[in-house]
Amino acid sequence: LVRFDKVTKRFGGTTVLDQLDFSVSTGKHVTLIGPSGSGKTTILRLLMTLVKPDEGTIKVDGDYLTHEERDGRLVKAGDRHVREVRKKIGMVFQHFNLFPNMKVLRNVTEAPVHVLGLDKDEAEQRARDLIELVGLSEQLDKYPSQLSGGQQQRVAIARALAMRPQVLLLDEVTSALDPELVAGVLDVLRDIAHSTDITMLVVTHEMSFARDISDAVLMFDQGRIVESGPPDKIFSDPEHDRTREFLSTVL
Ligand code: ATP
Repeated sequence: LVRFDKVTKRFGGTTVLDQLDFSVSTGKHVTLIGPSGSGKTTILRLLMTLVKPDEGTIKVDGDYLTHEERDGRLVKAGDRHVREVRKKIGMVFQHFNLFPNMKVLRNVTEAPVHVLGLDKDEAEQRARDLIELVGLSEQLDKYPSQLSGGQQQRVAIARALAMRPQVLLLDEVTSALDPELVAGVLDVLRDIAHSTDITMLVVTHEMSFARDISDAVLMFDQGRIVESGPPDKIFSDPEHDRTREFLSTVL
């Protein structure tokens, strides 16, 4: 469903991703781990088209995110093509980025109505279901500022799912939360991982969560994949010193 082919990204003179190849099949949950600065967030930002690769191609569900095919030739993607492909992708950020002036329900219905063109009643019904899924049915009429950080993040998760993405990107979604609020958010995500067929790409420092939900773990260092495999293998019996070293700092 998601495929990176020889993707290179540089910022200034620094190569942040170096000829990166990897793919994620439909319905799989893949966690990216590795030291700070190894390029994990850049991968998610490339998928959200917040940054563009310097070299290589990215495909989502058979469509190039970086290019489009015109008359049998591959040309640079236009804005309209990018918008269409990006609809397949939802993202939850470290800082929840909710609309501060909208109540919970409207935060979740706004994009489905205005971007997908969903009927308002249909969008509301779906929003209520999702808000229930994240355990916030009692908070529909609150503004984000009236909620805890963990509750706000759960609204952000519902909001991302309301766009019916094929791929959900989670970027360190608990790292800005007070420790006592982390478990509630991870429980909601575990539920979603186990009860839906959505494809997930996850960047997290929560290793036991990664172990629970991942089909595969990719260990990054300096813009390359050092090692990849099922979570039990990577966490219990890694092949590489670099992985062992990294895990000893986080486990
Ligand atoms: P962390 O766990 O700290 O978030 P990460 O593995 O997600 O790290 P990235 O955020 O992808 O790493 O960053 C990789 C490198 O790219 C870092 O050295 C970072 O400073 C650099 N970088 C990222 N975005 C930019 C930018 N917009 N301009 C310049 N440098 C950037």
